[in-house]
Amino acid sequence: MSKSLVNYIPAVNQQVFEDNYKKIKSKPYAQYFLKDMYVVDEEVKKAQNGPIHVSQALKPIPEDLNKLLNPGYLEAETGYCQMPDGTLYSASLTFFPGCTPEMLQWWFWWHSVESERYTLWYPYCHISSHAKNKDTLTKPGLTHEDRYKGNTHIITEYLYERKNNIEIAFVDPSELGIDTSHFPSAKILASACGFVSMQMPGIEFCTMIHLARETQDGFELRSRYYIGHNVKLKILGREWRVNKSLSNPVLKLNHIGLQTAYEQVMHDQIEFTHLASILPDLYNKFS
Ligand code: ZN
Repeated sequence: MSKSLVNYIPAVNQQVFEDNYKKIKSKPYAQYFLKDMYVVDEEVKKAQNGPIHVSQALKPIPEDLNKLLNPGYLEAETGYCQMPDGTLYSASLTFFPGCTPEMLQWWFWWHSVESERYTLWYPYCHISSHAKNKDTLTKPGLTHEDRYKGNTHIITEYLYERKNNIEIAFVDPSELGIDTSHFPSAKILASACGFVSMQMPGIEFCTMIHLARETQDGFELRSRYYIGHNVKLKILGREWRVNKSLSNPVLKLNHIGLQTAYEQVMHDQIEFTHLASILPDLYNKFS
């Protein structure tokens, strides 16, 4: 598996790196705040071949999502496209040699304890992450998954050059209709799925899926993002579904739609390939 250095970093993201470095340099894990990030050539080439055909995208319905439990690989594990209704689809496959699924479960709550930890993951794009329910992060007797599933992370990060203030509400994959009873036989040993909302106004706009499948040398992460398929306006604990004819014309503008779907794949490729390179050491020292 050959890797290449990520060598085009917009000026705004270089500044994010400098600002993050000032905050993290006195932390005990500062040595893992790295300047060089790499991507797996084979996967990035797939993303850079242009959009996949819509027939290669998994629809966000149980019948399709459960195909992720079949052995082997689907047609387009890394790629992006825009569906005819304007919604966006991003898929990304990343590799974690030398890592265990438990390390990923640990990471998903451990990084939300303080924002500096979150910046390790993507020093050029991640700014802050806080868990809404902080008590579950330190409460004794909980599993790693208990500490993030059911919790919400309040996040500021860049998607390429655009700063986003979002919230991710983590849920059990069964809430998306995925049959988790087949996880052991499918060798899916960890997951991080959730609904992504903008903070202000509270609009849920994305469903995110990360499934970690055991491999001979560690695990692989299969990720899916559905943007605009189930837009909801959330005010004071109440939700209203937003009709696609209202929510999707914006996505249909080519430069917003396809570009966003592509940036999401690249962001995922970069951050998870990077996380895989630091996770075993971080886990051994800080778990
Ligand atoms: Zn990120």
